[in-house]
Amino acid sequence: MKGTIQLFKIQGIPICVHWSFSFVLVWVFFTAYSYETGLNSMLLKINALSILTLFSIVILHELGHALVARRLHIATTKIVLLPLGGVAMLENQSFSPKKDLLISLAGPMTNFALVLLFLPLLWVFPESVIHQMVEVVLHPQHPLIMVSHLNSFQWFVFLFILVNLSIAVFNLIPALPLDGGRILKAILAMRMEELSAVTYTVWIGNILALAVMTYGFWTDHFLFIVLGAYVIATSSGIIKRAKILEILKKTTVGEILIPVDDFLRANGQNPNEETWNFSDAPYDISTSTPLNVAVDLMLKEDVQFIPVAEDGEVKGILSLSVINTFIGRF
Ligand SMILES: [Zn+2]
Repeated sequence: MKGTIQLFKIQGIPICVHWSFSFVLVWVFFTAYSYETGLNSMLLKINALSILTLFSIVILHELGHALVARRLHIATTKIVLLPLGGVAMLENQSFSPKKDLLISLAGPMTNFALVLLFLPLLWVFPESVIHQMVEVVLHPQHPLIMVSHLNSFQWFVFLFILVNLSIAVFNLIPALPLDGGRILKAILAMRMEELSAVTYTVWIGNILALAVMTYGFWTDHFLFIVLGAYVIATSSGIIKRAKILEILKKTTVGEILIPVDDFLRANGQNPNEETWNFSDAPYDISTSTPLNVAVDLMLKEDVQFIPVAEDGEVKGILSLSVINTFIGRF
């Protein structure tokens, strides 16, 4: 993902923020500002702290995915924070449904674990405070009333539990690209081909999204409409990517290798001058390697082409532009 800046690293995983995140900062400022009274510093502090809490929880959620993936020997390139949440970018995208299920479950489970960790704190709060918290959940239109009745620690605990629960439940909605969609897809993929599993999951997600959007229109909840539209808008891309992955899995490297001489001529080199040395092919790729494995490696190493050798003899060149042309034919 382009347009990101690294903030810091946790467990060796870079935590980055996407440029569109700046909209969130603008929101924090403008919701605390009014023309009549100017900047409300109390509201600004509450907004800033809420956003900080929200995105710390998002980072913990993504770390849940990343650390379980690491246990399953899948590295995470980075975690990116976006205005609508986060993404843990895994090094490769094609792994078994069982691994997919465990990695997808890890995010929401992290949030549930954090809720369980903080829940005992509620017992030490006075009954009136708990009553206030319930009031705010039932009538969320007036969050300021809550703040006036809770001290900052009580407020933080309340917010932390509420946000963790919301993120866990929201992410378990069975619509791609949410975790719930990935969980459903992984369960289906244990019983059928990956592409069929993705197609069924996308349709279930689209039907749910339509229902959520209708509810949003009916009750004037703008966020529901945006959410439903987002799920539907991403669905064709998800099916397309699944189709490409299916083609890559079924094709071997040997099927689309180009001869070294042709490759050199295409790059304006004279094959007879031996200006290019392919004697040692540095990657563990042979002609029988599935294309998806080779593509994952090339993207990870950030290379446009690699020589493929067998028994010390170069068999040809695998080039990303050739792979792109090949995929484009379908
Ligand atoms: Zn997640």
